[in-house]
Amino acid sequence: MTEPVLEAVGVSKHFPVGRGRAVRAVEDATVRLYPGRTVALVGESGSGKTTLARILARYYPPTQGEIRLSGGEGHSYRRQVQLVYQDPFASLNPVHRVGYILGRVLRIHGHARGRAEVREQTAELLRRVNLPEEFLEKFPHELSGGQRQRVVIARALAVRPRVLLGDEPVSMLDVSIRLDILNLLARLRDEQGLAILYITHDIAGARYFSDEIHVMYAGQMVEGGPADSITEGARHPYTRLLLASAPDPDRVANGSGPDEELGEPPSLIDPPTGCRFHPRCPAAMDVCRDKVPPRSEHGEGHWTTCWLYAKDDE
Ligand code: SF4
Repeated sequence: MTEPVLEAVGVSKHFPVGRGRAVRAVEDATVRLYPGRTVALVGESGSGKTTLARILARYYPPTQGEIRLSGGEGHSYRRQVQLVYQDPFASLNPVHRVGYILGRVLRIHGHARGRAEVREQTAELLRRVNLPEEFLEKFPHELSGGQRQRVVIARALAVRPRVLLGDEPVSMLDVSIRLDILNLLARLRDEQGLAILYITHDIAGARYFSDEIHVMYAGQMVEGGPADSITEGARHPYTRLLLASAPDPDRVANGSGPDEELGEPPSLIDPPTGCRFHPRCPAAMDVCRDKVPPRSEHGEGHWTTCWLYAKDDE
């Protein structure tokens, strides 16, 4: 495999909340993004996946660990790493037409000058996201949710990034168009060699769209590896619960999440001792309450952190 374009190595993020306490939103997370590949970060609300994406986008500095962007010298970080948000309704300035929104980005980044060049390139951006040129004249409120998200993606592409960080990019869209947007992202990834981080609570959808899956629980990565290996041979009880609550791959189309089926996630200010999943784990043992589980390897890059798989000498 080639070198990662972007990697987070041993990254933690603590948000102070006073009196020496902190929300431990992300702990010791490592993720690597490669050109032309998608890595899914899966977990319920509050698992730390959005915080990790914002650290990767350099919206937050990490408390510990390192973010490394390789190559692309001479270009700004923002030009190389673009974040696409969940909410296409809040992402576009309502007072400007689509043509202005896209053209502005092209001008700022020096990709187009003069009216004719801007017009040509903005129309080309729309073509890449399967929208007709006439949409350049429309205002965001004239577009459907799916059309807006296409414009948001076109705006991200206008920067000519090497990495797209998608923070639940389809979860607020109508059921009928979620697959269209994921297919669009997959095509852009394949055609342009984009590295994509796909954040979702929907593990079935993650399998459909991703090469690798990393599962986060309560700020920690608990299992990761090739997408097929994770979905067909999940080891961690939390991953298994996620899969059991989303048994149908077509669930990408309805996107219902596991949150309501798994109960309340733990506090990140005062997280459970030992394995953070132990209060909710159907397989919890005494050791799980006292000691942090070590990492176990299961071949082909599949790993987990769970006492069920720890070797005897640990
Ligand atoms: Fe469950 Fe223990 Fe494994 Fe944690 S370490 S997931 S509590 S069995």
